[in-house]
Amino acid sequence: MKIKIKKEPRKDSRSWQNIFNKILSAVSLKNGVKNATLLAFAGLLIICALMFVIGLSKYKTNEKPKDNTVNAGFTVAEPVYEYGEPETLVDNGTALHSYIIYPKTGMPDIDKVIYEWAYGKYNTTLSEASAKGQGIEAELNAQYNSYLVKNDYAGIEEIGFYGDFQMAHPIDFIKTFNIDIQNKRLLSNDEIITKAKQADVLKLIKEKLIKQLPEGTAVDELDASALEYMVLTHEGLDILFERGQVTASYLGLQRVSLSREELGEAFILSNKQVVSEIAVSSEVVSVQPPEVKEPPKREIDPSKPMIALTFDDGPSKITRRLLELLDKNGGRATFFVIGNRVETYKETAKSIVEQGSELMGHSWDHKQLTKLTPEEMREELKSTNDAIYAATGVTPKGYRPPYGAVNDELKGLSKEMNLAIINWSLDTEDWKSRKADKIYEVIMSNVKSGGIILCHDLYDATGDAMAKIIPELRKKGYQLVTISEMMEANGKALEAGEVYYGKY
Ligand code: ZN
Repeated sequence: MKIKIKKEPRKDSRSWQNIFNKILSAVSLKNGVKNATLLAFAGLLIICALMFVIGLSKYKTNEKPKDNTVNAGFTVAEPVYEYGEPETLVDNGTALHSYIIYPKTGMPDIDKVIYEWAYGKYNTTLSEASAKGQGIEAELNAQYNSYLVKNDYAGIEEIGFYGDFQMAHPIDFIKTFNIDIQNKRLLSNDEIITKAKQADVLKLIKEKLIKQLPEGTAVDELDASALEYMVLTHEGLDILFERGQVTASYLGLQRVSLSREELGEAFILSNKQVVSEIAVSSEVVSVQPPEVKEPPKREIDPSKPMIALTFDDGPSKITRRLLELLDKNGGRATFFVIGNRVETYKETAKSIVEQGSELMGHSWDHKQLTKLTPEEMREELKSTNDAIYAATGVTPKGYRPPYGAVNDELKGLSKEMNLAIINWSLDTEDWKSRKADKIYEVIMSNVKSGGIILCHDLYDATGDAMAKIIPELRKKGYQLVTISEMMEANGKALEAGEVYYGKY
């Protein structure tokens, strides 16, 4: 059952108004241009932008809400990354499938607290999952939104779920962090809401909760614990509630948005002179047409050994290093990217294509697809491919499902969506060891022609290992090829709905 609760859309950089403004401003730039080619180009830009918008609108109308909905586990549909660099904690193991995204701020004291929360969550869940015994596939997934408030403050909300096959539905969880950027410190909740005014704020929250919940819904009495998960936003403050925290659990996570005006003197930022205006990154605002130049196709010699290096979970801050290494050594690889990272790393996504490497999807937010409904599966694949297309103009021929998890339903859907499924023959387990020499050892002692090697586009250790591995593989005569190149060299094409593991 899914119940949507009416709520004003968040006014972030991704609102409809903004998307249309972006398109309009991109179009108006072309007013002074007399050159017909450029006008045609502008037309193409509008078509591309519209296709993207149509893609997004499809995505938006799907039951994949941003917040305030009952649907467990679908809480951060389009992450807002206004502050911090997304870091990823991955476990592709057998006891727990885990994927936690958390922000790195560059301030060591704060990063330590956030990392300890993320790692703690992972570690506790891993012990619980392990204790439940074998054969249970447990999944932990957490994503975050970060809001930069007039350059002086940042609010971070982590929203996640844990589920396994013994449970009727996943358990949601929330964590928030609020940062005073100028003073490089985390704010306690008492510093955000004045203690003296706490009772007034609780009353206001309860009123708003009752208003936004379906009529007649019972809401518990609120005490100070109701303020546990607060996050600074552009408008003021959001208060988040875990499933069942203040109302019936089937109603799911709750979010109450309070404006500065509503909070008045109770709110830290109502009294403070906030110096600078909200930073609107020009990179985010401009709708760029995909001006991506792919290098020409290469001739791959099928009689010579070849290997397909693949990098999952990016784009990330190490993608460019990997591309440079490949380029220097005449190699290409395949990058399986997370849909919700593509916009953040749009330029990096383009560089992948420009280098000649192949770009494919790895789901929108790294949920195990086989646990989702068919509509949710489709949405994970479609939204990711839409994001890839919007950033690079590339229509991927395949994708890699998170954790390599495949079932008949997913295969059928992939066939229908014209997508091949690319798994692997050799797992470097770089996510586990995060040690360059270990990764090097695994690859160099197991490498065979026709193999598909799984690595992650996340860790410096993987970059360090590749700095040695890539030139050495070349020296041994391996052609470093993309998935499509490997297929073509063998006189085949990727077939939709088929699962590929590489030859071993
Ligand atoms: Zn992955």
